[in-house]
Amino acid sequence: MTLLLKGGRVIDPSRKVDGQADLLIENGKIVSSGKALTKGKTFSDGEVLDLNGKWVVPGLIDMHTHLREPGFEYKETIASGSEAAVAGGFCSVACMPNTDPINDNRSVTEFIGRKAAECGLANVYPIAAITMKSEGAFLSEFWDLKDAGAIGFSDDGKPVMNAAVLRRALEYASSLDMPVIVHCEDKNLSAGGVMHEGAVATQLGLSGIPAIAEEIMVARDLLLAEYTGASIHIAHVSTAGAVRLIREAKSRGVRVTGETAPHYFSLADEALRSFDTNTKVYPPLRSHEDCKAIREGLSDGTLDVIASDHAPHARTDKEVEFDYAASGLTGLETSLALSLKLVAEGALTASDLIEKMTLNPARILRIPKGTLAAGADADITVIDPGRQWTIDRTLFRSRGKNTPFHGWIMKGKPVLTIVGGVIRYRDV
Ligand SMILES: [Zn+2]
Repeated sequence: MTLLLKGGRVIDPSRKVDGQADLLIENGKIVSSGKALTKGKTFSDGEVLDLNGKWVVPGLIDMHTHLREPGFEYKETIASGSEAAVAGGFCSVACMPNTDPINDNRSVTEFIGRKAAECGLANVYPIAAITMKSEGAFLSEFWDLKDAGAIGFSDDGKPVMNAAVLRRALEYASSLDMPVIVHCEDKNLSAGGVMHEGAVATQLGLSGIPAIAEEIMVARDLLLAEYTGASIHIAHVSTAGAVRLIREAKSRGVRVTGETAPHYFSLADEALRSFDTNTKVYPPLRSHEDCKAIREGLSDGTLDVIASDHAPHARTDKEVEFDYAASGLTGLETSLALSLKLVAEGALTASDLIEKMTLNPARILRIPKGTLAAGADADITVIDPGRQWTIDRTLFRSRGKNTPFHGWIMKGKPVLTIVGGVIRYRDV
């Protein structure tokens, strides 16, 4: 099967390419990119797509997704999550281990791998738990999990409160060349909170989670990374203080990478005045100043990755009192469009944005993706930067309809998702 993508704007940060070119795909691999690739060739057994005005980029990678299976299939399954992924332009997703049972053992990792292969849409990379049952006490079997197909470790949703345990995790993972992804939260400081601590929380009468609950753990984890010499990846950064700490640590040479999610630069705690439980996320939506700092962190390279933190929930999890509502929003199908706003507003170049959604997560996860170089897997996302559309949660492929962005008018959308040379989503 041959596919020729003609005349698009090819943006490939892995080769520092940004310009109009054709891309030729054969048998699931990228053959070449450049001008006039097909001179003198006929295309009897292939397809030619004219992509003038579209962006042709490496297949997007979401390194922070919750697929909910096994255990919470009423929220999402690996199949529905994979459909949402390709509809959102993602060729690859890394899924967090807080399923039921927790992905802290080989059988769960292998189950995810099998299920993902059965539905065969997106590449699914399981992230295994750092500690047994993510309870923070005893390390899981890192080597065995790696052997079963896990590509990293995280207790996402929960912090590893015991510094000695995280130290061992960093040392062990480092010896296996695997990333450790930390959820930074001091449970004692955040206890009882449902939203960002500040004036809005006081006015709404909701209990607050202070920014320092995140920052104190970021500071601790940076020190542990520095002490052990291991690399560390900080998930879903939401506060100005956390951005500052990561920036300082990077300048000292600490091997840290940072990630944020679109909601942390798109919405502030003011959005909770609606009492829409879809604005309840973890960590919480912060102040306007924090939003601004997140954007600056993305602009200056302190934050390396934009990930969706796709956290689908059922209606019954969300249509309850604010205090009792589950935290999280469904993000796979809105993440790219919300991030494209940063380009429209001049906070990021197109190439910088694509790097944070392709090359950087690939490097952090040590997966052979995120490039359009000849010989690479033909994982490609085509984006129509001019397409105007309205976010409509009733059209989501995800089982989770929990989004605070319903009705938002967006500019720019994925129109073609090619995984391993096969078109898995098409809107052109
Ligand atoms: Zn998460």
